[in-house]
Order: sequence, then structure tokens, then C-alpha cells
Amino acid sequence: EVQCRYVGNNGDGQEGAVLVSFMDVTHLEQAGQMRRDFVANVSHELRTPLTALMGFIETLRGPAREDAAARERFLQIMADEADRMNRLVGDLLSLNRVENEERIRPKEQIDLTGQLHSTLNSLRPLADDAGVELTLDAQDEPVLVTGDTDQLRQVFTNLVENAIKYGGSGGLVKVVLTLFDRDPAVREPSARVQIIDNGPGIDAVHLPRLTERFYRADNHRSRQLGGTGLGLAIVKHIVNRHRGRLRVESELGKGACFTVILPR
Ligand code: ADP
Repeated sequence: EVQCRYVGNNGDGQEGAVLVSFMDVTHLEQAGQMRRDFVANVSHELRTPLTALMGFIETLRGPAREDAAARERFLQIMADEADRMNRLVGDLLSLNRVENEERIRPKEQIDLTGQLHSTLNSLRPLADDAGVELTLDAQDEPVLVTGDTDQLRQVFTNLVENAIKYGGSGGLVKVVLTLFDRDPAVREPSARVQIIDNGPGIDAVHLPRLTERFYRADNHRSRQLGGTGLGLAIVKHIVNRHRGRLRVESELGKGACFTVILPR
């Protein structure tokens, strides 16, 4: 299991020597090339399910016309492909919204403890289906942060969903909430949420690019699991908008740890 360590400014200079790779991905700049690639990527991501849909429509009109069983099967595939397109468009709209709002500070008072409890409760069926044990380690008292309720919920939902999806069967997903009076990174009272899994982890070469739109460490697995490749890009922009930090620590074969630090 990956040890989530928070190095901040108390690092001992040995960071490069340890096995675990970590990366503060909060403010990584998106290169110009990436922006140009975006339209091409969106088009490609939409065209793939669209091509499948068009193919199946032809098949239903022709060869499968008289075959009820085949028709049922193809309709199910078509529904899945339409669902994928729908999720992609939903994520694109979310991403667009959070990017545009990035300079406006959200102002709601949110109890993180309560929000984490309810987020985990709504993801429990997914964890059960995946054979993953999901635990929350947090104090009972409310922990107040200023923010946007729906957006913070989306951050934790995306990170825990990923931990469940990629962690794999028989896995453990642990969510840990810790408070700091003066966090080394944000230098003010803060709350730290860590989402830790013991799955296959992420190769260090992928960490710097992980929050780019459509970047996938394991292309095949992400698509198989229905990922849009936008989840972490959305997370990064929401965390930015809350003046927070996002950190990824992972080592291949040893799980992954995503850390969100929010000012209180
Ligand atoms: P996706 O929709 O593909 O899940 P994300 O932006 O949420 O897109 O994640 C980007 C990539 O990061 C994923 O495709 C996956 O390769 C990798 N990833 C994210 N979380 C984990 C995790 N907990 N364990 C292993 N790999 C992960």
C-alpha cells in the first residue's frame, strides 16, 4: 500500500531517492499544443461511439432484421454507446463550467465530515459491486470549509470512483480526513482529504500529465471501465477554484494516493 506522506516544506531533500513518486499537479500548466489537441480529442472521443451507433443501425436495418436475439444484443450495445456519449458531453460541460468559474471564489459553508460521509454512502453500492472495501477515517465533529457544495462533492466522487474502478476486486479504498492548524503547503488552517487505494498504481512517467484532459495512464482499461478521461481535469480545476492543492503519489504495483488540501 502506498504511504501517503505529506512532504511540503519539511522535505529532507531525499524526495528524488524514494520509490514513491509524487507530484503536485495543482498548477501544472497546460501546454499550447494541448489546447490545440483538445478539439481533435473531443471529435475523436465523440466519433468513436457515433461510428459504432451508425454501424449497428445499418446492421439492424439489414442482416439482423429478422433475428430477435441479435437485435436485443445490438440495442444493448447501442444504449451503452449512447450512454458513453452522454457522459462525455456531461463531463465536457462540467469542465467548461469549472474552468470559466476558476477566478470566482465559492462562498458556501460546507461541513466536510458530513459531505464525505454522504459521498461515501452513495458510492457504497459501486464499491460492493466491485468487491471493494470502502472506509472513512474522520473525526465526528463538523469540519467547516468555504466552497461550492456540488463541486466539492464532485471532487470526492471522482477520486473515490477512480480508486474503486482502478483499485480492482478485493481492494481496499480508504478515505482519511486530517486537520492542520497551519498546513505546510497552503500556510493556513486547512483540511486534508486523502483517497488511498491498494490497486495497480500509476507509473511515475504518467504523473505530471494525469490531470490533462483525456490523458489516460492505461488507455485500454479506462475505456473498458467507461472513463471519459476528464475526471481528474475537472478535479484539478475545482481544487484550484477553492485555493486548494492536489497531489498524486503512486508507485506501480503499490496503489495510489490522491491528496486534496483545502483551506479552512
Ligand atoms: P478516466 O475517465 O479515464 O478515469 P480520469 O481523468 O479520472 O479519467 O483519470 C485519468 C487516468 O488516471 C485514468 O485513465 C487512469 O489511467 C489513471 N488513474 C486515476 N486514478 C487512478 C487510480 N486510483 N489508480 C490507478 N490509476 C488511476
